[in-house]
Amino acid sequence: MANVLVLGGGFAGVIAAESLAQRLGPGNRISLISRHREFTFFPSLVRLAFGRCGLEDVFFDLIHAMRSQRVELIQAEISHYNPDERYVVIPGGRFEKHVNYDYLVFALGRRLAAERVPGFFEHAHHLLTVGAALKFGEAIKGFHHGHAVIGYCQDARLAVPVYETAFALDRLLRARGERDRVKITIISPEKPGDLLGGAAIFPALQKALNEHGIDFIPDFPVNRVTQMKVWAGNRQRIDYNLLMLIPPFQGTLEARYMGITDSSDYIRVDRHMRVTGAERMYAAGDSVNFPGPKMGHMAVLQGEIAAANLAAEIEGREAEASYDHQLMLVIDEGGKDSIYLHHKLWDEEILDLRQGRFWGWAKQMHARYWPRLHALRPIELAEE
Ligand SMILES: Cc1cc2nc3c(=O)[nH]c(=O)nc-3n(C[C@H](O)[C@H](O)[C@H](O)COP(=O)(O)OP(=O)(O)OC[C@H]3O[C@@H](n4cnc5c(N)ncnc54)[C@H](O)[C@@H]3O)c2cc1C
Repeated sequence: MANVLVLGGGFAGVIAAESLAQRLGPGNRISLISRHREFTFFPSLVRLAFGRCGLEDVFFDLIHAMRSQRVELIQAEISHYNPDERYVVIPGGRFEKHVNYDYLVFALGRRLAAERVPGFFEHAHHLLTVGAALKFGEAIKGFHHGHAVIGYCQDARLAVPVYETAFALDRLLRARGERDRVKITIISPEKPGDLLGGAAIFPALQKALNEHGIDFIPDFPVNRVTQMKVWAGNRQRIDYNLLMLIPPFQGTLEARYMGITDSSDYIRVDRHMRVTGAERMYAAGDSVNFPGPKMGHMAVLQGEIAAANLAAEIEGREAEASYDHQLMLVIDEGGKDSIYLHHKLWDEEILDLRQGRFWGWAKQMHARYWPRLHALRPIELAEE
């Protein structure tokens, strides 16, 4: 009997635990540790900020989902793990608790390193947590004229919500009859589309930005934020009245100093999602060191691959499942300019690029049905 411990109740952890439960016999024990008892569906946070969906579309009941897969959920915050004696540490006042394991799946996501941009906490909005998205939503309600600056910092590995926010803001202001009083600018440390998998997407994106009257400023690596001004270097600055920025990302701290992370604290893995230089340990999701954007569909696939190879290891078989780093995204523009891109990142090959109303609709349908496919019930329903 194997004792498998999954760390993290996000896309990667939930799928890894679910898949392990389906692959391993009931004699094995699978537990999942997560800070919260809710699963958060992050891709819906832009819609939440703009009041186009509610909390019931974002928070899902992890306890029920794990129980239905016969996975034990432990709601706790872990501080680190001990690879030699195989336990993770849950700090608790004077006494820390140890949770033992035989095999470990690390899926704690990434850290928002906003402290790398002085003034970020004081002046910038972001929408990478539910609380921050709701706060940004309140700011939008009170914003009627001036300059809205929306963008991402260097090492922010997520561009989709930047574009979706700019499009949603444009539509909202038009509906309110206030569009001519507001200038909307997207700022990016790179050229347009770079974080979305390269130049191929740019013409489609540029067309959509033009139609919405949204300006784009590339090569603007934000290095500080002051009241009403966002800076790149010492001289380049843009005045703003409303600012939403995706902060730099970094790997989480729980695996630091264990010799398994790169210089940005991301965990080094091979194509089988095995952690390089560690035994009986797999990692998946935003926490791993693959280049390019960090996306939920990648976390799901990596969680699946980690589970397949871990089950094989437990059963004494060779690892067979191999990960291929592909980007598959939809930018929901709210109408006919929504974009779908499928890009093989390791082979630099565009597999598909489409534009049309269907893709925004498909993304919303996916958000509605994906949680249900994985036994994740909206929190409100679960409490009835
Ligand atoms: C606004 C927004 C929009 C997005 N849009 C898209 C999109 O359109 N398409 C797409 O594919 N992706 C999108 N993403 C990205 C996607 O959400 C992430 O890539 C995905 O959530 C990564 O999954 P993960 O399981 O690796 O990490 P997470 O989902 O971050 O999960 C990590 C889990 O670990 C837990 N945890 C962390 N530290 C600890 C600790 N010390 N102790 C215990 N538990 C801990 C957390 O509570 C969480 O449950 C978006 C993200 C955001 C924020």
